[in-house]
Amino acid sequence: MDVQNFKGNNWSAKKAGSVYLVSLKNHSGITETLTDFIQDQNILAGEVTGIGAVSEAILRFFNPATQKYVDKTFKEQMEVTNISGNVSEIEGKLTLHLHITLGREDYTALAGHLLEAKIQGAAEFIFYPINTRVIKIKDQETGINLYDFEK
Ligand code: FE
Repeated sequence: MDVQNFKGNNWSAKKAGSVYLVSLKNHSGITETLTDFIQDQNILAGEVTGIGAVSEAILRFFNPATQKYVDKTFKEQMEVTNISGNVSEIEGKLTLHLHITLGREDYTALAGHLLEAKIQGAAEFIFYPINTRVIKIKDQETGINLYDFEK
C-alpha cells in the first residue's frame, strides 16, 4: 500500500492508500483547519469522522420556517465524542459539512451543526475520499445546500 505524509496549515496527515489520518494542532479551529486540508489535498467528496476535545464551539441550528441558521457559542471544556461530515463542492469551492456531538463536564451532551470549534487537547480525523466531483446546490424549498447529482 502506498503511504505518504503531508503537512499544512496547523494539520499533518498520513495517507495510506486512499484513506487519510489527520491530526490538527492544539488551539486551532477545526472547520478552518480541515477546510485547509481538503483544499490542499484536493479532496473532492467523501466522508470524515473524528474525535478530540475543545474549549469553545459555535453550533448552528437551522430553522426551516425562516430558512435561517441560529448560532450559539459554548465556552467550556468539552469532549468531541463525534464529528461526522461530508465533502462536496459548493459554488466552486471544496466545502465541509460537519456535525458534532460534545460531551460536557457533567457527562451530558450538546449536539448540532458545527460552525467552528477551538481545539483544547487534540483532534484526530479519518477521511475517506471519493474521487469524483460532487456538487451541492441551494435547494429553493428547504433553503439547504443539497447534493445535485445531475451537475
Ligand atoms: Fe448541517
